[in-house]
Amino acid sequence: MCYAIPGKIIAIEGRRVTLEYFGEKREAIHELPALALGDYVYAQGGWVIDRIDPAEAASILEFWREQFFQLQATDLRLSRLSSEKSEIDRHVAVVFDRAIEELPLRDEELLTLLELKSGHELDYLYKVANFLRYKHQGNSCCIHGIIEFSSHCSGSCLYCGISTWNRELPRYRLTREEILEAVREAVEIWGFKALVLQSGEDPDRPIDELAAIITEIRARWPLLIFISCGEVGIPGLQRLFNAGARGLLMRFETSNPELYARIRPGRILENRMEQLRAARDMGYLLITGGLIGIPGQTSRDLLNDILLARSLRPDMYSFGPLIPHPATPLAKAVSPSSAEVRKVLAVCRIADPRESRLVVTTAFETLDETAREQGLTSGANSVMMNVTPDAVRPSYELYPDRAHARESISGQIDVTLNLLGRLGRAPTDLGTRDSRILGSSVPESSTNGIPDQ
Ligand code: SAH
Repeated sequence: MCYAIPGKIIAIEGRRVTLEYFGEKREAIHELPALALGDYVYAQGGWVIDRIDPAEAASILEFWREQFFQLQATDLRLSRLSSEKSEIDRHVAVVFDRAIEELPLRDEELLTLLELKSGHELDYLYKVANFLRYKHQGNSCCIHGIIEFSSHCSGSCLYCGISTWNRELPRYRLTREEILEAVREAVEIWGFKALVLQSGEDPDRPIDELAAIITEIRARWPLLIFISCGEVGIPGLQRLFNAGARGLLMRFETSNPELYARIRPGRILENRMEQLRAARDMGYLLITGGLIGIPGQTSRDLLNDILLARSLRPDMYSFGPLIPHPATPLAKAVSPSSAEVRKVLAVCRIADPRESRLVVTTAFETLDETAREQGLTSGANSVMMNVTPDAVRPSYELYPDRAHARESISGQIDVTLNLLGRLGRAPTDLGTRDSRILGSSVPESSTNGIPDQ
């Protein structure tokens, strides 16, 4: 089973390459020695994962060819934008026109979109976002796997079910061998090319131990590894980059500093932002965003969340609903509606139509069974699959009844590929922000004097 379409290298400029598959051209960053024009590679998240033997690439491309053009035709049909705007307020229609023409929208115009209420206007908003996604990013949909390797956390975030507030939760910490086995299964059996390694802020798993595990993973499998372990500090980020991590999934949760300090006791927004910026400068691919529906959050806050995320030039945006956990101080909070979440996704796509991927979060999928379809037709083009070992997955209880907590990996894959097929999306992913320059070319090199192992 494979979740990526091989691309042929048609241009190389330092670490930047242009790839082509079925007439689609995409940019990516590579770290492979002696990569040459005409080579076939897999790329995910705008990052070249591995070279593939030309004969193998040819047979995989052959397998995809007919399907790919069929998918593309389906996506084109579903992404057409009608000019029917009769039930849309004139002022709102002007904002839509500007969005479609890709004139830069003023903050107040984006806010107008975030505050839309009428069904017709909302439907049109989603369509505009979907149209822009199609126009700039085509039908590729990126699929990352996530392994939740520890539920221990020293943080006291008011919303989070694995925080110190939850005294009842049985905690687990996967051993090095268990993590390697989960990665092996995800890569060798299921064909994942990009994995997120996520955990709470676990004080009993030293950063060096995690770094050693990442180095071992990189040595054994061609893989894009995202870390998502909260605030590990700038030296910690560098340590993990040197070990071979190339992506960071870290949301800033909210752009409102007072709200941030309230829901994350003992923390300040500026520290998290400093780490996000440092990670970007080190060369990490960033996935970032925030929570929708924090008590006291306004639509202006949500707009600022989108703008703050955009200022980081992320490779992927991640915005999802807050789902109250009964063991936390926010137990009585009310989740936002699906329409609220969808609106944020659509406005995010309209605010940044060209480059970044946008993920449908598991929290949105937990809120609404049809979230994936809703998200993917409102500007999103990425999904995550949970590949945490079955035995511990339900204990990673960020919020109750998490989607996919009890589904087999093969079941998740079937459902996902089915949906992507219906929507005309190809499970491939190429392309990156054009301004990115990797800080370090080989996993072992160190740029800040931290000794390598
Ligand atoms: N400790 C790491 C990652 C684990 S939490 C970190 O701090 O980044 C991963 C994400 O889950 C958080 O960024 C948060 O946005 C989300 N999350 C936590 N509790 C949640 C809840 N109750 N509802 C929805 N999302 C939640």
